[in-house]
Amino acid sequence: MASFSLHGIAVSQGIAIGRAHLMAPAALDVKHYLIAGDQVEAEIERLRSAIKAVHEELHTIRTDLPKDAPAELGAFIDVHSLILSDPMLSEVPLNIIRHRYYNAEWALVTQIEELSAQFDEIEDPYLRERKADIQQVGERILKVLTGSAIHLPLTGEAAANIIVVAHDISPADMLQFRDSAFAGFVTDLGGPNSHTAIVARSLDIPAAVGMHNASVLVKHDDLLIIDGDAGVVIVDPSPLVLAQYRARQERLLRERKKLSRLKKTPAITQDGEPITLLANIELPADATTAWEAGAMGIGLFRSEFLFMGRVGHLEKFPSEDEQFESYKQAVIAMKGRPVTIRTLDVGADKPLDEDEETALNPALGLRAIRYCLSEPQMFLTQLRAILRASAFGPIKLLIPMMAHAFEIDQTLSIIEQAKQQLRDRKQKFDEDIPIGAMIEIPAAALALPLFIKRLDFLSIGTNDLIQYTLAIDRVDHEVAHLYDPLHPAVLFLLSTVISQGRKAGIPVSVCGEMAGDVKWTRLLLGMGLLEFSMHPSQLLSVKNEILNSDLTLLEPQVKKVMRATEPAAIAAAMAQLQALVAEPVEAKETKVARRR
Ligand code: PEP
Ligand code: MG
Repeated sequence: MASFSLHGIAVSQGIAIGRAHLMAPAALDVKHYLIAGDQVEAEIERLRSAIKAVHEELHTIRTDLPKDAPAELGAFIDVHSLILSDPMLSEVPLNIIRHRYYNAEWALVTQIEELSAQFDEIEDPYLRERKADIQQVGERILKVLTGSAIHLPLTGEAAANIIVVAHDISPADMLQFRDSAFAGFVTDLGGPNSHTAIVARSLDIPAAVGMHNASVLVKHDDLLIIDGDAGVVIVDPSPLVLAQYRARQERLLRERKKLSRLKKTPAITQDGEPITLLANIELPADATTAWEAGAMGIGLFRSEFLFMGRVGHLEKFPSEDEQFESYKQAVIAMKGRPVTIRTLDVGADKPLDEDEETALNPALGLRAIRYCLSEPQMFLTQLRAILRASAFGPIKLLIPMMAHAFEIDQTLSIIEQAKQQLRDRKQKFDEDIPIGAMIEIPAAALALPLFIKRLDFLSIGTNDLIQYTLAIDRVDHEVAHLYDPLHPAVLFLLSTVISQGRKAGIPVSVCGEMAGDVKWTRLLLGMGLLEFSMHPSQLLSVKNEILNSDLTLLEPQVKKVMRATEPAAIAAAMAQLQALVAEPVEAKETKVARRR
């Protein structure tokens, strides 16, 4: 068969080479038939006991969770248990059997399709992707109903050569695969924020998701290469391509091994400038991973993840106590290192019948702080929870998406209000909690004195700063090629914020994806950046780049990058920047040791 490649979304790094193992979704085989009136009770019972079996299955998976399982897995399995308990899934399908005489599988699939359609209407891309969780729970029930349990036949050595190809994989199923130590996975569904993608990243398994119809095009036992960095799957590669990828895979493994020795090495440039490396986390339990990866603190805790997947809850938002426990958990896990908690950053999560214009441009709508200011009670609850956690360790409060002076002032006054409420309740918190802003709207970057005057620190969100500067929707594939960190306008804004911040003596970090990509480490260092916050898995490669950089060499070269405006000239100056040779890491380590 001729070789061909499939293109999807890169969600975790690395290269996997192996034979395809196809997992067919149970939903594809669902039989649709009408039952007789006297069969209704029996059919309802059949569905009820399947739901009960899944409950027990999830409970067993949860209690048997291996100690070293990624922290997210437990939380995701809890989300699945909650979804399963929700009447939308545990009751409505029974009514469909009762009133429409559908067989159990058909009733269940009908309701899942209905719920999925409702999720499709949600503007926020993260929440929209939670549809996958409902489908995955449905899939589990169907598998029990049809008796087609999920199993991977192999373990150990043989499994290491297997690449799982599926329409979708639930986080709970990933656990089973993890024990089989398979080489990688490819799914039709999923985006960069899907739970499966997040788990893949934390398990460090090469994966590609959003492949559309890979599970149809790939045949069982096909030889596959997953290029996890590019989000590409090569099916039946030629011997030459295979050899190239094997060589790359070996090189990557060697590099990784070398990097793991840097965990405890301080991140100091060749000329002695200490750089702070922080972690971005999504759930409180990720703090442990961040700590283990050697992060000096949390530079971005995306608190919105606590507000998501609340299908089984009566309340739309997590309560003050629920949030407090989560923030406290992260603070305690970081053992005295600072935890920067960003207040809720969700998009316009609106039903269809609401304002159409907002729905068309959610990124420009009632997002992040705009949303929080319009929901003051919800915002106050979150602020009180964060403040209360600050009694247990250092916390910094980070506010997303601000552009106007009055937004900063209003936010500060709401924070003061939250503090007063806690004083009235005689609850402890850090009176001097540092308050900072995400700089992610070009207007904010261009009017920085407004921020410097009012706040304690700044964090540049390059993901949104690039989106808004270049007017390209970051989740729209059609314009993804226009997402360019090297656009002169982006470079100008970045360097302006870093240098103005430094001049004013206000700490500036970058917490967007640029901070975790070694391609940009030297550029940011040369602009004067001293704090980087990234996914914990990127920490060591960025640290390695820092150890191999000399600011006295980088700074003049970055000035050349900044002076160039033509793309070719920028690219050439960047190539020279990457080619600058500093002393090797080993020599630097000796120097640091000597200094001590
Ligand atoms: C950013 O915009 O760069 C950022 C870090 O925030 P988020 O990706 O959560 O919008
Ligand atoms: Mg952002």
